[in-house]
Amino acid sequence: MVKLFISKKIYGLEDEPSSPANFFFVKNGTVAEIGYCKNVESIKGRADEVINFGNRVVVPGFIDAHTHLLQTGLTEIDTDLSEAKSISDVLSILSEDRKKGREDGYLRAYNLEIENIKEERYPTPFELDRVSKEFPIYVKTRDSHSCTVNTKAKGLTGKKENILRGSDFEDVSLFFHKLLSKEKKIDAYRIGAELAAKNGVTTLHTLIGRDEPEDEELKILMEIMDDLKVDVVPYYQSRNIKLVKRFDLKGIGGCLLIDGSISSRTAGLFAPYRDERRNKGMLYFRRKELDRFIAQANGENLQVAMHAIGDRAIEQLLSVYETVLKKNPREDHRHRIEHCELLNDNQIERMARLGICPSMQPAFDFYWGGKGGLYERRLGVKRAKKLNPLKKIINKGLKIAGGSDSPITPLNPLLGIHAAVNHNNKESRLDVGDGLRMFTTYSAYACFREDNVGKLGTGYKADFAVLSEDPFDIPKEQIKDVKIEKVYKEGIRI
Ligand SMILES: [Zn+2]
Ligand SMILES: [Zn+2]
Repeated sequence: MVKLFISKKIYGLEDEPSSPANFFFVKNGTVAEIGYCKNVESIKGRADEVINFGNRVVVPGFIDAHTHLLQTGLTEIDTDLSEAKSISDVLSILSEDRKKGREDGYLRAYNLEIENIKEERYPTPFELDRVSKEFPIYVKTRDSHSCTVNTKAKGLTGKKENILRGSDFEDVSLFFHKLLSKEKKIDAYRIGAELAAKNGVTTLHTLIGRDEPEDEELKILMEIMDDLKVDVVPYYQSRNIKLVKRFDLKGIGGCLLIDGSISSRTAGLFAPYRDERRNKGMLYFRRKELDRFIAQANGENLQVAMHAIGDRAIEQLLSVYETVLKKNPREDHRHRIEHCELLNDNQIERMARLGICPSMQPAFDFYWGGKGGLYERRLGVKRAKKLNPLKKIINKGLKIAGGSDSPITPLNPLLGIHAAVNHNNKESRLDVGDGLRMFTTYSAYACFREDNVGKLGTGYKADFAVLSEDPFDIPKEQIKDVKIEKVYKEGIRI
């Protein structure tokens, strides 16, 4: 069965966008030939089926290099607080789900944004008790680095503080995570994958599990992976090297935390936060511990991925990568730094020298960058400008893998591309080609699949999205409004 796809412009992203193709043949789910032909009528006879997208634009299926797919699905299922503008909003949204709480024996809510709450604070356990004293309630902030709970949950987890950050937050999150049933997790994966497909994503890197010895998470995902709507590349957030090898994964880690987040003031900084003068954030690892783990993983030929946001955290991670790779050099390790937000020129230089893969989320700047934004408030104008220096990194020849960190920002690559092209700091803006490459070829590279996905070239999987408009042609401020009209996976519409 040979299919011929025709469209006014097809960006295979092999070359510069100046010469788009207008047809490609697909055989057995793979691109057999792609090119430009003045008279497409003349080649129609070579196909069993012809699909013509008219004046639409075709791009390779997007690849999101950093998602938490389980949490993405759960956010759709559990209580969403993103619309809450006051403490009473929070309580009334939670109260609407009281019945669900009773049935499940717990209530989980996400996306609390303190900045949007009139009172500019978390709800207290006492306030949450008004929703229920019988079952535990968990309210997590949008950045996923702090939470608050009701009195019942405080008792069950043995926590004293009302607002939980750092390791207390991790403990409480783990407690609530363990309450999830297998069925609910499978549902969440399915829903997450469907959401991805709708937004033009055909492959996603997903970070799963927690830094603990159990492998249930990974087992569930491996069991259902082939039935999901999109291809999934799992990264297991664990230091359990044996386990990752057993499942034959190429990489280990993900949001394995070197530090926290800027929003929760836990990202590790060289200089203190502007709005908390004695605080320089935190580092989760002792140097020795980190050395040992990365040396082991590197020795086992694994790609390592770690979450590092602040300059002090990136410094710790980079210097461990340097030490380890000096002792045990590897040709093509592609060790990653997830987020990689606040870094200086020297660090970029060293990343390029080492061949590190930065895995970044441009939509962070879209939401928190700019004048008066969260980044400025936390770090001051001068430092905030240095965040997410996409252009500088690309100019050093590094391939930045693009991601959403969904559910932190929407699982929507066009928004990510828009954010990269319209960066709040003009000097950090990417051109549209690099924006697209972040979410296609560069993300494929970051998971060793660059010969298979991320491009529409001969021998590549026929994964692609049909766009309503040409992102190269429209005003840059409109990229996020381009519609995903159709999505194909291996030549079949999904
Ligand atoms: Zn992270
Ligand atoms: Zn993450």
